[in-house]
Amino acid sequence: MTTDWSKLTEKEKQMLPLLIEAADQMEAIYWQTAYGDKEQLFEGITDSALIKYLSINYGPWDRLDANRPFLETAGPKPLGANFYPQDMTKSEFEALQDPRKTDWYSIVRRDEKGALKVIPYHEAYPEQIRKAASLLKQAAQLAEDEGLRNYLTLRSEALLTDDYLKSDLAWMDMKDNTLDIVIGPIETYEDALFGYKASHSGQILVKDKDWSKKLSLYAQYLPKLQENLPVPAAYKKEKANANPDMNAYDVIYYAGDCNAGSKNIAINLPNDPRVHAAKGSRKLQLKNSMQAKFDKMVVPIARLVIDPEQQKHIRFDAFFENTMFHEVAHGLGVKYTLQGNQDVRGALKDNYTSIEEGKADILGLFCITKLAEWGVIQNKDLMDNYVTFIAGIFRSCRFGAASAHGKANMMQFAHFIESGAITRDTDKGYYTIDFEKMKKDIEIIAGEYITLEGDGDYDKASQLIATKGIVSPILQKDLDRIAQAGIPKDIYFQQGLQTLGL
Ligand code: ZN
Repeated sequence: MTTDWSKLTEKEKQMLPLLIEAADQMEAIYWQTAYGDKEQLFEGITDSALIKYLSINYGPWDRLDANRPFLETAGPKPLGANFYPQDMTKSEFEALQDPRKTDWYSIVRRDEKGALKVIPYHEAYPEQIRKAASLLKQAAQLAEDEGLRNYLTLRSEALLTDDYLKSDLAWMDMKDNTLDIVIGPIETYEDALFGYKASHSGQILVKDKDWSKKLSLYAQYLPKLQENLPVPAAYKKEKANANPDMNAYDVIYYAGDCNAGSKNIAINLPNDPRVHAAKGSRKLQLKNSMQAKFDKMVVPIARLVIDPEQQKHIRFDAFFENTMFHEVAHGLGVKYTLQGNQDVRGALKDNYTSIEEGKADILGLFCITKLAEWGVIQNKDLMDNYVTFIAGIFRSCRFGAASAHGKANMMQFAHFIESGAITRDTDKGYYTIDFEKMKKDIEIIAGEYITLEGDGDYDKASQLIATKGIVSPILQKDLDRIAQAGIPKDIYFQQGLQTLGL
């Protein structure tokens, strides 16, 4: 994990060791909440591969294989990780009379009498918290950018009190900084019992100002894209936001939650709805992580499944654009059903994420196609985006029908096969993409998803997912070939001061 150092000033380079050490404190707390006693876990283990695998997974459960235990002595992964006492029942938790029990920033333990008690993070992990807060404060003193200085100062205070609101607002106000750090308890996925407790994470980022500039140029066209959606007028009358806060970054350090299991390649924060209401949210595209996943997985998969004649279209720029416009496309279409003005998420319930992710994928391609046609994206060979997209489908489908993205990709795959936009040669199993058919399909599928959302048609969504969101025998054959080729399922990072050459 590194970046183009010419982007950073001397002061910013001096801040890095402080930020890395602060992120390492998040790493230590994350081990505590995700697993427990790390030293005890590693005790007596000498197999270096096993040590590595325990580190990557932050515990003895395989995060890329539905948390299957890979250590003989390990039982199933507790749903509530180590946020709650292992012997706590749901009803016992429900009976606990403490309003703080459901907040994001505390753990639950037993007192001397065995009764449940709530402990805020800053009291549960005082040593690491005090250290991280002090390091952020020192880094703030070096910060030349006023917004960054303000954010780091407030974040340092927030860690000490577990009240993050002011620092989240300050993070949204910070616009011109090059260096950034996402630090503190952030996402709640690790708590699979209730989804209440946030996990500590530290991610250090360097903004790619050239790409960020391109992004803000494209963003100006969002209202026009909304008006041109391939649906009847009633389905596109909501206004699109022309100023989404979206930037590209290189990540130079992952610690704690963000480093566990599958690595994130995009961030959408903060999570606090009070911040959304006041300032919206920010989308961060992590370019170097994306490039690593592209090089290690998309390219070798494409070699197995894409027509050799078309493999020249597998390009990182196209992959990056597809991912970026997927995020943009989440903001287009309908948020409320046409009849009854109901929140689409509420109307489609458990089907929502599969449909919405599918919409974002296809509508992202639609946006790129339109912007190229309008001359906004110049020198564009759309075939790069289409072929790279198809190769990407095979990557996501490997994670199976359990993920919303996986299901969405299977539905698209089924559609492209039916229409003839992609054809499979039975001999070698290579897929060939028909440009015109795929272009037409993109409009049809995008229209179908937006209409479904606008109608809030739960039954139709269920039917679509049940019939198309599955691995067909042919697709399974291809996935087996990919599995046999030993292509990695995810990446881990070489990172730290030494890697950075500092
Ligand atoms: Zn998405």
